Amino acid sequence: MLVLTDERFLEHVPGGGHPERPDRLQAVWEGLDQSGVAEDILREPVIPAADELIKKVHSAAHFERLVSLNEQGGGKVDPDTRMSPGSWEAARLAAGAGIQAVAALKEKRVSQAFCAIRPPGHHATPTQSMGFCLLNNVAITAAALTAEGNRVAIVDIDAHHGNGTQDAFWDDDQVLYVSCHQWPLFPGTGAINDIGAQKGQGFTVNVPLPPQAAGDTYRAAFDEVITPAVERFNPDWLLISAGFDAHRDDPLASLGLTSGDYADLMTRLVALVPAYRSLIFLEGGYDLAALTESTAATVSALLGGSYQPEKATSVGPGLAVVHQVAERFKP
Ligand SMILES: [Zn+2]
Repeated sequence: MLVLTDERFLEHVPGGGHPERPDRLQAVWEGLDQSGVAEDILREPVIPAADELIKKVHSAAHFERLVSLNEQGGGKVDPDTRMSPGSWEAARLAAGAGIQAVAALKEKRVSQAFCAIRPPGHHATPTQSMGFCLLNNVAITAAALTAEGNRVAIVDIDAHHGNGTQDAFWDDDQVLYVSCHQWPLFPGTGAINDIGAQKGQGFTVNVPLPPQAAGDTYRAAFDEVITPAVERFNPDWLLISAGFDAHRDDPLASLGLTSGDYADLMTRLVALVPAYRSLIFLEGGYDLAALTESTAATVSALLGGSYQPEKATSVGPGLAVVHQVAERFKP
């Protein structure tokens, strides 16, 4: 497994007790070390995304706004999102990681890839940074892939809805976007009836889950919604927006997953496509211990290890929502 990560991500410092802090990435690195499969992990530093690839997703005005804020030494981008002197470089690196991972997978140097990056990306829309996100990392990789004629499925299991990713491919039939997220919760998008528009209609699938939804609900969503949608779409690539804030200990959400559930779900997701065709992107996750454990359990499971300190969970609410979405998308 290739893990793309970089010390320079620590230089993005929103400051002032912000939950999206550099410690998060160090917690993920600790998880890699604890996984028991560290010898099967190849760590490489990251190359920044080319400006023209960033601009396939983001407007010139959005891009220029970030460049000029960076030239001023940073500042507030929106009420939740701040730039420090190292933020623009970190954002361009985070945007480049997926593209670099795709190249390594195409060369078959590695069979799977995990982009351990920050700032996260899935709330950044084509025209606006928001929700701790400056550039939409997963969308930039997806757009680079579709420009080469690939079909791309994005599955987003962050606790929050990936409104930015949804917006980027709202009317696009070359990208399938499927999200399981808590509802209601920031940013307030991602209702069942948000299904895309024009030729993209039916290529956006939202599963808005109630607070406390746990492992069995996610496994039902996997069986009844995610698997049939991805199989019907038959993608060339699968990109996973892996937010670890659906963990039951996360302070910013109220879902009920454990690290054991994450390991299970991620293994199932990656198995939906052949080897060399899936990438995992770090999105949210704000409890440091949960980040370490979830990373360790996930990476271990993906590499055939046995690290699983927390069992997978079972019952929780939300099955009715899963059935409703499954019904909505029945062919
Ligand atoms: Zn989140």
